[in-house]
Amino acid sequence: MDLHVHTIYSDGSSEPRAMIDKAVALGIKDLGITDHYGGLERYSIVSIARLDEYIAELTRLKQLYQAKIDVWVGLETAVLDDLPFSQLNKLDYVVFEDIEMNPRLGYFVSQVRPNLRIPVGMAHPQILLLEKSIDILEKEGIFIELNTHYSDRYRGNWARTVWNKLASKDIRISVASDAHDVRRVGDTGDAIRFIGENNLSEKVWLPKKNQRG
Ligand SMILES: [Zn+2]
Repeated sequence: MDLHVHTIYSDGSSEPRAMIDKAVALGIKDLGITDHYGGLERYSIVSIARLDEYIAELTRLKQLYQAKIDVWVGLETAVLDDLPFSQLNKLDYVVFEDIEMNPRLGYFVSQVRPNLRIPVGMAHPQILLLEKSIDILEKEGIFIELNTHYSDRYRGNWARTVWNKLASKDIRISVASDAHDVRRVGDTGDAIRFIGENNLSEKVWLPKKNQRG
């Protein structure tokens, strides 16, 4: 599985279809596309019209490929003032950057999360920063990514105590490469190894389980 990749809709350099074809060739069962929304126009989807186009094209591809692979329509964004919730609620899930700690996590939970009826996760969190947020993650059903593009954020002995606490809670973990072109699609081996080494396989999150988080 690979639940976080980018395409030409944001700062990736490959078409969605090329990313899906490569994932099929690799034998990947679940591919989540999570282009950026908000921020600089050069790197992100910034208009509602473009976001609608993105959702429509990926939904079409999801149906086209359903016999070969599960394609999930995701998005990566941040805590912005004017998030388009009616569009976001058409997605399979959304991952948020930079919400590991208060006060941003508190704002997310009180002002953003209540508007979302889809699963939400934390994009490539810095595990060490999660120590005081663990109970909130569990209560709010927020999954966390093991993102191999940022393996330094989850590996290392310094993170051990936090992982021990995370593992004892009902918190899901998603597997992600953050690929920006076809060459890195499915480059999730390090995350899968980490899950094996730390007995976390029961915690793995997939959109199809329709879990809240
Ligand atoms: Zn990303």
